[in-house]
Amino acid sequence: MALSEGKTVNRKKEGDWITYYANGNKRSEGAYKKGTKDGKWIQYFKNGNISSEGQFKNGEYVNWYVTYFENGHKKWEGDYGPHVGKSHDGRKEGEWACYSATDGKTVWRTITYKHGARTRPDEHPLGPCSRCGNPIHDPDTDRCPEC
Ligand SMILES: [Zn+2]
Repeated sequence: MALSEGKTVNRKKEGDWITYYANGNKRSEGAYKKGTKDGKWIQYFKNGNISSEGQFKNGEYVNWYVTYFENGHKKWEGDYGPHVGKSHDGRKEGEWACYSATDGKTVWRTITYKHGARTRPDEHPLGPCSRCGNPIHDPDTDRCPEC
């Protein structure tokens, strides 16, 4: 089967497009306007679970964005700023949360952005690893993933 399907107008992708893995599962789906991503986009893992969801405007991210672990748990999420015709259009804005793989709910890292740049040190609510001091990712342990 074809690995992608969608329309082109004047050789530019237009409207809904879907791509597939060789196993026939969807790889991505979303919309184009005049060859650039515009509208909702979803990426999938090979196993069929969603890996990320987001919005594009004029080929750049805008609004809420979320990614998932392959097991379906939320991995991280946050917002891209509104498009206001400035150079920071399409950059991360505000608080982004990273979640524990074990439950997809516990926040292990919060990153705060303004116009795509970190405005303060990242916060690690689960504290440091008892062995090496790196951030703990999982509420059920006092160690980081490397220890
Ligand atoms: Zn460690």
